[in-house]
Amino acid sequence: MPKAIDVIIPVYNDGGLVLGCVGALSDLRIGIANLDCSLNIIFVDDGSKDQSWDRIVDASKEKWVRGIKLSRNYGKEAALLAGIRDSQAEAVIPFDVDLQDPPTVITALVSEWVSGNKMVVARRTNREADTFFKRQSAKFFYWVYNKIAENPIPKNVGDFRIIDRSIFKNLDHIHDSKLFMKEVFTYIGKVDASVEFSRPKSQRIDEPSQNLGKLLSLAETALISAGPKLFRKILGMTMLIDIVILGYASFIGAQWLFGDLPFNGFATLVILNTFYFVTLLSLLSVIGLVSTHALSESKSRPSFFIEARTN
Ligand code: UDP
Ligand code: MG
Repeated sequence: MPKAIDVIIPVYNDGGLVLGCVGALSDLRIGIANLDCSLNIIFVDDGSKDQSWDRIVDASKEKWVRGIKLSRNYGKEAALLAGIRDSQAEAVIPFDVDLQDPPTVITALVSEWVSGNKMVVARRTNREADTFFKRQSAKFFYWVYNKIAENPIPKNVGDFRIIDRSIFKNLDHIHDSKLFMKEVFTYIGKVDASVEFSRPKSQRIDEPSQNLGKLLSLAETALISAGPKLFRKILGMTMLIDIVILGYASFIGAQWLFGDLPFNGFATLVILNTFYFVTLLSLLSVIGLVSTHALSESKSRPSFFIEARTN
């Protein structure tokens, strides 16, 4: 009996890409059958407003393709979780419908998994296909993230990877209502191997469906889920600023006491004061942000609801 592998594909307003994606994965099935595995697809319609669900239902006429439909748009992270939770397979592979990551890498991931690696990530060797802005902002974000994260995430690695059932079943115990899947993946298991690939341009002509707003909100979730190191760093920074300010104040004080300098540093005082207050305010706003998240997590609502399934 070949081992079942599910490719989990979140879809949001990308109906036009569904059949092409099925075609591309269909081409891999023979090669993967030779590894004694069977490749299947679970599409997750993340509350699309276009024909995505109809296309998924059409595609599900193939026995190896099925779909679930979420009750609204919960975001890519939740859609991915929904698909993985629904899988009964021996391993899962998160994948984007826009074929931005070349499907052939899937075969390489499967063959690493067959040889006993439980989590194998796909590592990008180029980012030329991304816009300059996306490249730079991603680089900056991961640099900051890994500086403050309890569990750093591997460089140039996205959600694209193969995860063995023994690891992804741990997701049943993850109850975060706001998710950053790359962090969750590093939390539930270790990376055993990686496969390298370079990324061609996206199939999609219009804007990516993960818009700037969604990415910023994901960045917020990520930084909050990074752990207490962020606050330790902020506290450290504030203390450092305080020490510098104290030093400066004693210097001015000494000049005033021992020299005949009039107390005239008004501008300096205003600048230092403003600096100090800004630091305090940003610290407070971070605390505010965290408590809002803590409140929403404490409600422990499910991160998605399923509305329909293909049969
Ligand atoms: N997607 C989703 N929900 C959303 C936004 C995107 O399920 O709210 C899906 C989308 O259809 C695609 C994948 O997530 O399969 C990645 O989206 P996109 O290509 O827009 O993002 P990026 O390439 O920036 O990661
Ligand atoms: Mg994309």
